Amino acid sequence: MAEKKKALKQVSRSIYSCRTCGQCGSKVTDEVPYVCPVREITPGFDHFYARGKIVIARGLLEGLVEPSRELAEVVYTCTLCGNCMTQCGAIDRDTGEPLVDTIGIVEAMRSDFLDEHPEWVDPEYRGLLSATGQYDNPWGLPRSVKQKWAKKLNVPHALEHPSETLLFVGCTIASNPALYPRAVRAVEILQKAGVAPAMLGKDEPCCGSVQKRIGAAGQAREMMKKNIQLLNETGCKTIITLCAGCANALKNDYSLGAEKLQPEVLHIVELLARLLKYGKLQPAEKKTKKVVYHDPCHLGRHMGVYDAPRDVLNALPGIELIERSATRQNTICCGAGGGMRLFASGNLAQEMGQRALESTSQTEAEALISACPFCEMNFEAASKASNSPIAVYDIIDLVHDAVF
Ligand code: SF4
Ligand code: SF4
Repeated sequence: MAEKKKALKQVSRSIYSCRTCGQCGSKVTDEVPYVCPVREITPGFDHFYARGKIVIARGLLEGLVEPSRELAEVVYTCTLCGNCMTQCGAIDRDTGEPLVDTIGIVEAMRSDFLDEHPEWVDPEYRGLLSATGQYDNPWGLPRSVKQKWAKKLNVPHALEHPSETLLFVGCTIASNPALYPRAVRAVEILQKAGVAPAMLGKDEPCCGSVQKRIGAAGQAREMMKKNIQLLNETGCKTIITLCAGCANALKNDYSLGAEKLQPEVLHIVELLARLLKYGKLQPAEKKTKKVVYHDPCHLGRHMGVYDAPRDVLNALPGIELIERSATRQNTICCGAGGGMRLFASGNLAQEMGQRALESTSQTEAEALISACPFCEMNFEAASKASNSPIAVYDIIDLVHDAVF
């Protein structure tokens, strides 16, 4: 018989490091208007933010709490944004790292639910996992779809015509025609700067990020292992991603196993910052705009990439970057992470997006810029739903405008 609570047992040290102080629910400062986006839009009971979730994890681990469908829902109501970990006072004195890994704890609870009580896990998540098994695409579209965005471009296949630079588009952009321009513009910018990327097209695998976030740890591990082999086979030196989730998975999750990814992994903002710094791109003033940059959780808190996107925006003539008080490591989650766009028909994710958008409306900014398709889609939906005058762009759009 399979071991029970296997994943929770692996994070027990983290669970017992929580002092149940409640800071992750109640902390408010000038830079931290609120910590937990879920708590902010729900009645605020403990189980909606980190402390309550960790108490539940402890109860499950000790057998004092029985798993149930209601608990499964609670466990999936978390964007895995990590702000609770940033604001938590329980810090390892030697490393400065948080002692309580809320993300790891929530992912472990999800993993145990999927292993032991899959019938209680939202069918949307189970559908995503079976679509991944069938198509290697969580959005359930056949492989051929993944190269449609590049139809009119000259981008070679990385296994047939190897290049030093591999563009990893990601399933979300490659499966959504509304997001194709993001990939097309990225290629046009790179080619203009003298970078000739290759792609994997229909052979581009799913990075495994969303599967890991929703608790399918074993499935994600297998995908990552296979992907490392394929990506190493391309012989590229650098992998450029357009999605913060793919970047975080390729950089951080892929380094956890025995197999190692050889190429360097960069999110496109990191490469754009270098290309602008070394004069490979010559941006011109096209429009003046006051903008706010939204740090995607995966790119900021999880990867520490804060300066590169700001360097890019500051290098674009006519663009005035305004900082909100909750910025960088204190960024307020857009609401789309951790699989929340699939949960409760995406309504909670949208509400969190609307709430996060409010802090931009309080500035003079006309636009909110992000660097992740999940943030972009969620903020766009939130902006529409609240009739907000704030336009939403990806940073690639602004660079493209400035160099073409
Ligand atoms: S996670 Fe950190 S901030 Fe939250 S209750 Fe535990 S110790 Fe306190
Ligand atoms: S990871 Fe984010 S959404 Fe989840 S409990 Fe922590 S602050 Fe709340």
